[in-house]
Amino acid sequence: MNDGFLLSVQGLKKHFLLKRTKLFGPRERVYAVDGVSFEIRKGETLGLVGESGCGKSTLGRTILHLIEPTAGRIHFEGKDITRLTTAELKPLRAQMQIIFQDPYSSLNPRLTVEHIVGDAVKTHGLAGGNEVPDRVAAMLDKVGIHREKMRCFPHEFSGGQRQRIGIARALILQPKLIICDEPVSALDVSIQAQVINLLGDLKKEFQLSYILIAHDLSVVNHVSNRIAVMYLGKIIELTTNKKLLTKPLHPYTQALMSAVPVLDPDKKKKRIILKGDVPSPVNPPSGCRFHPRCFKAMEVCSRVEPLWAEVEPEHFAMCHLYGACQPH
Ligand code: SF4
Repeated sequence: MNDGFLLSVQGLKKHFLLKRTKLFGPRERVYAVDGVSFEIRKGETLGLVGESGCGKSTLGRTILHLIEPTAGRIHFEGKDITRLTTAELKPLRAQMQIIFQDPYSSLNPRLTVEHIVGDAVKTHGLAGGNEVPDRVAAMLDKVGIHREKMRCFPHEFSGGQRQRIGIARALILQPKLIICDEPVSALDVSIQAQVINLLGDLKKEFQLSYILIAHDLSVVNHVSNRIAVMYLGKIIELTTNKKLLTKPLHPYTQALMSAVPVLDPDKKKKRIILKGDVPSPVNPPSGCRFHPRCFKAMEVCSRVEPLWAEVEPEHFAMCHLYGACQPH
């Protein structure tokens, strides 16, 4: 493993066992995350995109140990953190934070902002006594919430303000990595840009690394250095946002990109409409998981899983159009 990376994920899997539908029958398995590998450099933002149900939120939660991995390895700052005890996890929790999608349900309605943001500081022993309100006030200033409102409750704020409070709660622990799980998808379009710009400003100020999970490519593209595209539990393409925008390789990415609106009428793209829905992760298709919907599918695609290959420098894809095959 390269120690220069802040986070390295190798062959990560998260499978969920379903309840038996028949007495003594086998238990089916949901292949939510199924062999994912990538790295994040210090100060980098990695966008993670894909349709709902592709496993991107499960991947984020597994990295943070909010759910335990089934297989694979996670290294943080060169240290293997795949299997940790509760005591070993505690300092790590301050280093790796999450901002949730729903700013309404992610804040405890019975607590004031002072408690919501300040309690983590006390729990992690970063400050105590009178120092806590001062720290909370300073952090609220940073995210654009008036410090006089720190004794207010969540219902007294708008959706955008609540998301700012969620950001303050994550940032006050001075983390190195923040996983932003659809941070703006529950907000009005007019507020989305403000929150995304705030995340960008805070990244520069605190030298943060982000994993930005979203289904909207235009949101991810705005702030990411590289983008990973997920489909049915696997990353199927990974490259810089510039390369993904100008030359997407994987047919699934090409379809996603064709749906991103362009302002210039001369550059209008032909929309690629994918047939069918995302198949169930309980019983993923054989070979390439995308083959039932792929407009470039070949005979080999349903039989043989494509290899992950570096097609061009810093541009990886998992598709028979570009790489060697591996027997399924
Ligand atoms: Fe399409 Fe085949 Fe490539 Fe899969 S491997 S994306 S089915 S061309």
